[in-house]
Amino acid sequence: MNDRGDVGWIAGLARPDILALAACEQDEWDPTLARLHANELPWRGADDDTLAGLNRYPQPWSRELERRLAALYQVPADCVLAGRGSDDAIDLLVRGFCRAGQDAVLVCPPTFSMYAMAARIQGAQVCAAPLRAQAGFALDRAAVLHACTPAVKLLFLCSPNNPTGNLVPEADLLFLAEALIGRALIVVDEAYVEFAARASIARLLTRYPQLVVLRTLSKAFGLAGTRCGVLLAHPRIVALLRNVLPPYAIGQHTIETVLRRLQPGPLAQARTQVQRLLTARAALARALAALPRVRAVYPSEANFLLLRLADAGAALALAREHGLLVRDARGFPGLSQCLRVTVGSADDNSRLLAAWA
Ligand SMILES: *Cc1c(COP(=O)(O)O)cnc(C)c1O
Repeated sequence: MNDRGDVGWIAGLARPDILALAACEQDEWDPTLARLHANELPWRGADDDTLAGLNRYPQPWSRELERRLAALYQVPADCVLAGRGSDDAIDLLVRGFCRAGQDAVLVCPPTFSMYAMAARIQGAQVCAAPLRAQAGFALDRAAVLHACTPAVKLLFLCSPNNPTGNLVPEADLLFLAEALIGRALIVVDEAYVEFAARASIARLLTRYPQLVVLRTLSKAFGLAGTRCGVLLAHPRIVALLRNVLPPYAIGQHTIETVLRRLQPGPLAQARTQVQRLLTARAALARALAALPRVRAVYPSEANFLLLRLADAGAALALAREHGLLVRDARGFPGLSQCLRVTVGSADDNSRLLAAWA
């Protein structure tokens, strides 16, 4: 891929002990050779419906899967790292770039809690530049720059943001990418971008080596149970993080399921389902906004709606009595009396509206 200038600073940001690790050697992996080198059992289970056989280890990392994901996300193949959900990617980033007790991540709350969680597990500090609640949860560029001390190695931006549902404008992402080049990586979590009226920022990866994009098959592709998330970044970053990911991280079932679901037929079906969901989201938002107990339905670019209620606790309890779980968002800074509702099936959505009527 085209580097825009020298990217030696990537190694400068990374943890020195991770740089020093040799990548797990990709064993010769040729399904036509008899495998007497890996201490596997030679027999397949009678109920084993996989192509490769679950008695065999998968490839330490599946080149075929990553090639297919590269085509899906329209990036070069060496920019792709597949993991066990994007939660895995968040954890890898923090472990690869933050030294315990020294380095920090920067988050913009209210946002996805895994960024801070992964940082705390690693012993990294968590700095915060809150979104501007009074301005539709807009990013506060000045606050981000101010909070981005030399200790900060990763800036996590979630777009569309969970739980507020709004996008970070591309101009803000690129402004911060320019401002922080060489100082920190800009990690843009696009778990919900398929539901948004905007293209992925991944198309700009080749121009901005400081950009890391997280995608997942858990939301729009309906594969939350299979655990597959993707980190898209400069090949230097991908190579470095591959040293941190355990070999065989992605099981054979997941590899084969994902490859099947990325065939043209299932892909077209996934796109149709996204359209259906967008229609349902609009209808649900209108119906919820008409309920007296609902004070606000925030605009959403994702597959959920953030609501402010007259009494969130009472609404939560009422939903539960009707056998419905919704997410209590009151614990997020600035979201008192707020709940997050996933757009469900037509039946579930009607039940929620009936429970709160
Ligand atoms: C759901 C979600 C993810 C996806 O996590 P996976 O581990 O890929 O299932 C990532 N980021 C955000 C903001 C999410 O809401």
